[in-house]
Amino acid sequence: MSLKLFALTCGHLTGDLGYLMEGGEGKAELPIPAYLIEHPKGTALFDTGMHPDCQRDPAGRVGQRAAGLFSFHFRPGEEISARLEAIDRDPARVDIIVNSHFHFDHVGGNALVPNAVMVVQQREWEAGMDPDIAAQRGFNRADFDLGHKVIQIDGEHDLFGDGSVVCLPTYGHTPGHQSLKVRLASGDVVLAADACYFCQTLRERRLPQRVYDREAMLASLVELARREAAGARIFFGHDGEFWKTVPQAPTAII
Ligand SMILES: [Zn+2]
Repeated sequence: MSLKLFALTCGHLTGDLGYLMEGGEGKAELPIPAYLIEHPKGTALFDTGMHPDCQRDPAGRVGQRAAGLFSFHFRPGEEISARLEAIDRDPARVDIIVNSHFHFDHVGGNALVPNAVMVVQQREWEAGMDPDIAAQRGFNRADFDLGHKVIQIDGEHDLFGDGSVVCLPTYGHTPGHQSLKVRLASGDVVLAADACYFCQTLRERRLPQRVYDREAMLASLVELARREAAGARIFFGHDGEFWKTVPQAPTAII
């Protein structure tokens, strides 16, 4: 068996483009992606989408502030566990969750994947464990402090030891944001997550209104652009137009 990469869409949000990208106008439809990676040595998810409570009571789950920024479009059957079951994968048999960062739309589904080891950047974990920093960054400890075994990494990390799936530090959006590089037969794919919401974010370096560290985020975009120039395909974090071009599971990304 060779490595396989699958895209899963766990609902979507609608938000103001002006908040998500400098100079943006109007509304943007934001897909909430998660990815399944099947490697001969194990099964991994990159991000897990939103907690199912967001289907019923988003404000109760994510707080008034975040709930006021977005409209939630998230129905039963779209949560990560249901998406896995729909393609005959057992959420209890996922070995690893790589979380890009601790915002609710990336880590909320960890609760539905009980037996996985979490692989996160140490600086993200530490931010999440500090009540003041967590509150400033909009992290909800109930999303990620659930008793999973946690592997804290610092910088690049080769997930299976063969260079095929590598965590890449892309700090800036949050203290310890990371992206994931996946080597397919066709070449490298970089799952950027919120290091780069949109294609335009990369082309025009227009950052969201609210980021943890602007300079670090710009440096991460430079690094993503360098990898793209070297032949990698960048998968943007919440780009609706881009997402329409991505085949959905059970069709593998090739
Ligand atoms: Zn996000």
